[in-house]
Amino acid sequence: MTTDTPTTFADFGLDPRIQSALDGLGFEKPTDIQSAALPPLLAGKDVIGRARTGSGKTAAFGLPLLHHLADSGRGVKALVLAPTRELAQQVSAALQSYGKGLGVEGVTIYGGAPYGPQLKALRRGVPIVVGTPGRLLDHLGSGALDLSQVEYVVLDEADEMLRMGFAEDVETLLGAITGPRQVALFSATMPGPIARIAKTYMNDPETIQMEQGAPATAHITQAWTRVPNRFKPDALRRALLGGDRGTTLVFARTRASCGDIASHLESLGLRVEPLHGDMNQKARERVLQRLRDAELEVVVATDIAARGIDVNHITQVVNLDLPENAEVYVHRIGRTGRAGREGRALTMVTPAEVRRFGFFQRKLNQPVQEVQLPSDRDLGMRGRGRLQKAIEDIDPELASDWLATLLEDEERSVEDIAAQALGLLAKMGGVPLAQDELDDGPPPWARRPNRPERQQRPQGNRPQGGPGPRQQGFGGPGGRPDTSSHVELFLPVGRQAGVRPADLVGALANEAGVPGNIIGRITIDDHKSFVGLPPDVAAQVLKRYPQIELRGRQVPLTKSRGRHPSLPNKPNKPWQKNHRGKGRG
Ligand code: AMP
Repeated sequence: MTTDTPTTFADFGLDPRIQSALDGLGFEKPTDIQSAALPPLLAGKDVIGRARTGSGKTAAFGLPLLHHLADSGRGVKALVLAPTRELAQQVSAALQSYGKGLGVEGVTIYGGAPYGPQLKALRRGVPIVVGTPGRLLDHLGSGALDLSQVEYVVLDEADEMLRMGFAEDVETLLGAITGPRQVALFSATMPGPIARIAKTYMNDPETIQMEQGAPATAHITQAWTRVPNRFKPDALRRALLGGDRGTTLVFARTRASCGDIASHLESLGLRVEPLHGDMNQKARERVLQRLRDAELEVVVATDIAARGIDVNHITQVVNLDLPENAEVYVHRIGRTGRAGREGRALTMVTPAEVRRFGFFQRKLNQPVQEVQLPSDRDLGMRGRGRLQKAIEDIDPELASDWLATLLEDEERSVEDIAAQALGLLAKMGGVPLAQDELDDGPPPWARRPNRPERQQRPQGNRPQGGPGPRQQGFGGPGGRPDTSSHVELFLPVGRQAGVRPADLVGALANEAGVPGNIIGRITIDDHKSFVGLPPDVAAQVLKRYPQIELRGRQVPLTKSRGRHPSLPNKPNKPWQKNHRGKGRG
């Protein structure tokens, strides 16, 4: 980018009706991609824009498109191809807002919608057609879509179209445009097949690479952390509660897991919604609206559902799993840092995936920094800081009458009442009070096992890969526990859900950091389970882990209210004997 590029939209000499629409929208300065792409596009040249989503690329190709088409007659003059219905709708909406003074009609064409209105618009000869390749091809095949008058073609998010298997459809559509036309191609990455399409269908294109040589994600602070799969719920908790509260988009691999992850985060007090393809359109739109209205702190989405997200205020993207390839990675993290803002991205990488993630980094020519997630004490201090800030924001006058009444009626000092109120706030906000007792070490999975100490432990009880001896806060090492004072935790799942003693020991060890050797009696009934723990450990676990992941599900953990009469007090099931025999040594 040179310094003599236009700095205001007025420098482009756009149709005054477009200029006044931009003024109305409050677009004062062109974004980098707009400054770079508008002059060649307005001059009729083909352009390849290597730009990320959120860079303002829609106006970059849309303003010249509208400028060319102002006062155009009937017949399809502009064809915009987009990978998804959501993007097609966004582009249409943007074109409509930029061109509202022009009176140029457009139609959005995508699969899954009724053919009737699309056919009607095409027959009427609307000049702007924005659509997804599949349905456009249907209309081309049936003769409803006539491309003989097309003058301006846009391929938006071309790499995404390729990834979704549209390359052939795109080529068929481009091949059907026989007359002279101007082509604009936008893509965050430039895989081989896209480069070939550009070579075949574009005429001496000017390539615009934003931030000279820098990848499209250079403005996003990227980090990764090494975490085994089973620790991911805890890692996510640390990532979300330990960072600046903003709006986070969490990517999950499957539709089913979105709901589970969202429930887990909700139990931590976060305002969160899942977003996935099993939800109907209305439910998805409701989530998107809440996100736009800044009512949500977290959205947990699958790749496909996340395509519908067009929000500029996402501050962080978390990849709970490694995306399938580097292109998907770029698209995912491009959901943050939009419209000139900064963004952050965190990717969770299992030990087995570290090499593959290294390959992504080399491919993107961008090193990503490995980070350690916050310790329990960091989280506690953050939580306390948040509460303190919230308290400072409250006008003391608000409750002064109430306080005066309390001071009059009861024999308590101001200090007592303040301390009690703080205690209650901490409890409600899930913020531990005894900060000094909180663990200040790295998260359980990131700890180095301390071999000599480990040998003191009874054999065979701690599941493989479980936390090392640093979990001492939960109980001393070694020795068969005295279980007479044990408190029982209750879990509303049992044998019918396939729960085995090893699952319970594993879940408590891996998620809550409870060493296997202090776990007491385990009882598993058809639909419920009980686990005995020393009272102090039980109290800590209950406080910090209202839910725990068991056989892939988040299961509430509560204190048992006394034993169910149907449950025997002594082990009488073969697996109980097994567990005790094997586990307790
Ligand atoms: P896009 O990359 O086209 O999806 O645009 C991202 C967001 O930036 C959209 O919400 C646009 O409305 C907004 N935007 C695009 N260009 C400008 C501009 N020059 N000034 C302010 N906002 C803009």
